[in-house]
Amino acid sequence: MSTRCKTGLMLKARVRADLKVYGDAIAVLQKYSIAALSALEGPGSFKKGQELAERARLAYGVSRQKLEDHIAAHGCE
Ligand SMILES: [Zn+2]
Repeated sequence: MSTRCKTGLMLKARVRADLKVYGDAIAVLQKYSIAALSALEGPGSFKKGQELAERARLAYGVSRQKLEDHIAAHGCE
């Protein structure tokens, strides 16, 4: 993988950051079951967590697509 292109590096860093956010959101959902969250924090909490995870997944997909598009257009990898 080339390290010459600053834009490519920036986009890769963005993908890594978004993937971490997504991974963290999934980890939270896996840690707390629906029942536990419903009992402790109300029935909306798990749904909120799912929405956060879904948003993080979409953000990750967008940043990954941007990186792929850049590599395809720029040929920097
Ligand atoms: Zn590039």
